[in-house]
Amino acid sequence: ARGGDDLLVIRGVSKRFGGLRALSNVNLTVEHGQIHAIIGPNGAGKSTLLNCMIGLIDADEGEVVFDGKPLKGLSPHNIMQRGIARVFQTPQVFPGMSLLDNVAIAALAKMNGQFRIDPFVYLSPTHPAVEEASEILRRLGLLKMAKYDAAHLSRGDKRRLELGICMACKPRLMLLDEPTAGMARHDTNRTIDLLREISATGITMIVIEHDMHVVFSLADVITCLAQGTPIAFGKPEEVRGNPKVREAYLGS
Ligand code: ADP
Ligand code: MG
Repeated sequence: ARGGDDLLVIRGVSKRFGGLRALSNVNLTVEHGQIHAIIGPNGAGKSTLLNCMIGLIDADEGEVVFDGKPLKGLSPHNIMQRGIARVFQTPQVFPGMSLLDNVAIAALAKMNGQFRIDPFVYLSPTHPAVEEASEILRRLGLLKMAKYDAAHLSRGDKRRLELGICMACKPRLMLLDEPTAGMARHDTNRTIDLLREISATGITMIVIEHDMHVVFSLADVITCLAQGTPIAFGKPEEVRGNPKVREAYLGS
């Protein structure tokens, strides 16, 4: 592919935790508009790689280049300003606030061009951020619960709300760490549809996922990590049949 097709390029990234090599010389390229799935057994280094991409962890070696510019030295909130948003493995929402306010403060932060989210701001019901938040909740099927306290949501709904917060930030790249973990099949299928919709709006995605049904429903390409190293990359049907991938899962 031409360099211009690449939104994110990871070059030679390594990370140790004490004596443990969590990532060894990882190279990975994410093209504009794609859904790139990262799979691999538990402990393969998937979340660590994601944390390196958003600046939560400094890689020992290598670099992460987003849209042609290295991310080194930027704070997680600077990285978010550049257009990368992330959904955590455990849902992160603001408890004690309504669903609507959860999404509206993210929309407001985006409108103001700064990602210091202020949970104490007052927004009138006609504020554009509130209108945008309502529209996002409608798309998520959460509008009926707009006034509920986010703390009381089920795990599946919390994940959906977190996706809404992410959408309000209008990122160019969304990073999702196991977006369907802990969901029943019905919720999983709704999430797949939703992620497809978000992807269709032109947002590039990296999805870490355990559930192969989700991976094969969504991914344009797949990278398989094992013991901190990519062992396979390609289209879903290529990776599915790769004996190294099968071996990595059986050995875990
Ligand atoms: P995955 O997301 O693929 O399950 P992780 O990236 O969470 O894997 O972890 C990769 C390896 O690094 C694991 O062996 C894990 O125990 C270790 N690890 C992850 N984070 C830390 C940390 N902060 N300190 C020490 N070890 C860690
Ligand atoms: Mg993980």
